[in-house]
Amino acid sequence: MIDQLGRPLRDLRVSVTDRCNFRCTYCMPREVYGRDFHFLPRPDLLSFEEISRLVRVFAAHGVRKVRLTGGEPLLRRDLPALVAQIGAIDEVEDIALTTNGVLLARHARALRDAGLRRVTVSLDSLDDAVFRAMSDADVPVARVVEGIDAALAAGLRPVKLNAVIRRGVNEAGVLDLARFARERGCVLRFIEFMDVGTTNGWRLEEVVPAAELVARIDAEMPLEPATPSYRGEVAGRHRYRDGGGEVGMIASVTQPFCADCTRARLSADGRLYTCLFAGEGHDLRGPLRAGASDTELSDLVGSIWGARRDRYSEARSELTAGLRRVEMSFIGG
Ligand code: SAM
Ligand code: SF4
Ligand code: SF4
Repeated sequence: MIDQLGRPLRDLRVSVTDRCNFRCTYCMPREVYGRDFHFLPRPDLLSFEEISRLVRVFAAHGVRKVRLTGGEPLLRRDLPALVAQIGAIDEVEDIALTTNGVLLARHARALRDAGLRRVTVSLDSLDDAVFRAMSDADVPVARVVEGIDAALAAGLRPVKLNAVIRRGVNEAGVLDLARFARERGCVLRFIEFMDVGTTNGWRLEEVVPAAELVARIDAEMPLEPATPSYRGEVAGRHRYRDGGGEVGMIASVTQPFCADCTRARLSADGRLYTCLFAGEGHDLRGPLRAGASDTELSDLVGSIWGARRDRYSEARSELTAGLRRVEMSFIGG
């Protein structure tokens, strides 16, 4: 099963809720996601049974990795039950979860017991004031640290940490994050601030390029490049020369990886998005609830993936490179 650019379907990210207990300024700015924002009404959310059925359909098309996300996935009641259902699908080799960590201490053990093996926790700063400013929630960073420690204590491995670095906002804490991750044996990954959606006021000047972060860390804690472990690995990996683990860079802005993008995304209301930046999703819930057979659902997914041509990040960097060239020649000329 390959798309128009020869990319197989391997990974599925499933959003289990559109709600969140944070209002990260780069993701759900409070001005937009305020009190009167209309989140999906409950009946619109896919049930766990519906999600599992769709995951089975995707697995038949080649999906081997499933990541549960959101919104904040741990706001969805009884999430471990979904982990267990997906874990029972033979073809699925890997189930992961991305969470802001606030509720992780409470659920880590149950998630592990349900079959979750690893977890990714988003953590943008260890400085409480910076952390609060970025998440725009009345939650101390210590709560997230407790969640990370609970995940480690429950035996989830690896615990990955995702940090989005914004120029002038949390860049001063990069080395602290690196040290924290090393001490705990966590894999830290920096994500370049992306222009997802239309509400986060993204500006290229706020992106701290991955190469700059690597140089900064390398100056304190020497690094060497690690070879990618598989096609489609989005993080550029770097190992600490002293054997103290590794750090990854998700350079979606400065080094886009669309050519290897094997990911599909399923929204909480059952729409299939073939790119993080796609404007429209393809409705799977409608046919599912109208009684479509597995074969019909499978044909639908196959036809959507087969028609896929998305390469937004590459196109954006071509575009921004173009804009820069114009500026350079203007100044230089
Ligand atoms: N709420 C969970 C969490 O924060 O981990 C899961 C969903 S969140 C949308 C998934 C990841 O997307 C987080 O690691 C977050 O930092 C990242 N993210 C959100 N907006 C972003 C942006 N504009 N640029 C880069 N990463 C972003
Ligand atoms: Fe919520 Fe995660 Fe978005 Fe922050 S990044 S607002 S925690 S969904
Ligand atoms: Fe994949 Fe779209 Fe991101 Fe490119 S921009 S890597 S196609 S999700």
